[in-house]
Amino acid sequence: MAVGPARCIRRVVYDAYDIRVWYPSPYPLESTEDVSTLHVCAGCFRYVESLALLHRHRRVCRHRHPPGRKVYQRGAHTIWKVDGALQKLYVQNLCLFGKLFIDHKTVCFDVEPFVCYLVTDASSQFDHVLGFFSKEKISYDHYNLACIVIFPPFQRKGYGTLLMEYSYYLSRGEGIAGTPERPLSALGIRGYVAFWTTRVLRTLQNAFDPGNLSARRIRAILAGVSDLPEPPTRKRKISQRGWAGELVDDAITPESNLPDVTLPKSTTLARIAAASDMRVEDTTLALAYADLLVESDGVFFLVRAAIDAAVKRLRMKPPILDEAYVL
Ligand SMILES: [Zn+2]
Repeated sequence: MAVGPARCIRRVVYDAYDIRVWYPSPYPLESTEDVSTLHVCAGCFRYVESLALLHRHRRVCRHRHPPGRKVYQRGAHTIWKVDGALQKLYVQNLCLFGKLFIDHKTVCFDVEPFVCYLVTDASSQFDHVLGFFSKEKISYDHYNLACIVIFPPFQRKGYGTLLMEYSYYLSRGEGIAGTPERPLSALGIRGYVAFWTTRVLRTLQNAFDPGNLSARRIRAILAGVSDLPEPPTRKRKISQRGWAGELVDDAITPESNLPDVTLPKSTTLARIAAASDMRVEDTTLALAYADLLVESDGVFFLVRAAIDAAVKRLRMKPPILDEAYVL
């Protein structure tokens, strides 16, 4: 199969959208002619070179949702896990499509070592894929994400944040402070700085909150208490559904067993990072972005008023991922 003039793809028809392409993608097109508009099936991501071929394909395509397992579902929105080794062609086609909107090098063919997490929005008969992130099954650098893309018609609606939050949820389950693989795209850097800043500010605000159970863990970490029990995860709760399938809150969570230590007067960047489930360098960047690294004689001062002011200035939003809906 000859590699066709992928550079010439200018538009792509996907689902109900005709989208301008941002970057080249190595689509192995059979046609020797220029293909300025590519047609991509919203069910299986197969690509064809004309609308007539797409209509013909859609009549026989059986994909109504991604070929994987649901890992999160809240209302019409679902996150699916698709294994690159089990669904090689699907993931290759998904990555080729995603590459149209990512400016750096990304894997499109050697997909077996990766899993993809896709976010979908359901209509009556169909789960529409809005974007995804890929993750190496084994990452020696503990990257929690290889690349992330939300397709242009669905950007700026919080789906990227949802996927980033989910990638950090996975890292927490692995007991490791994760971080996305570098280099990040320009869009990725902007998204991550906002995400990290929100995460650190939320942690610091929580630390001051006396009535909040998760605040106990944060204060204990900031105070340097070691041997904390593992944070609660949804997995532990699965076996505890009530008779009607509703979730039953643990009567005794690991958090309620934690000593309620007072907020320490001094702490370290490493502890702030640990309390936020983040890397130290990402935490430092977030604190700098929030203008909270105010130094005096080699000591940084974090005061509540400055944290609250940063939250207001940056118009920080509450988290989108609700762990009660993790499957
Ligand atoms: Zn299809």
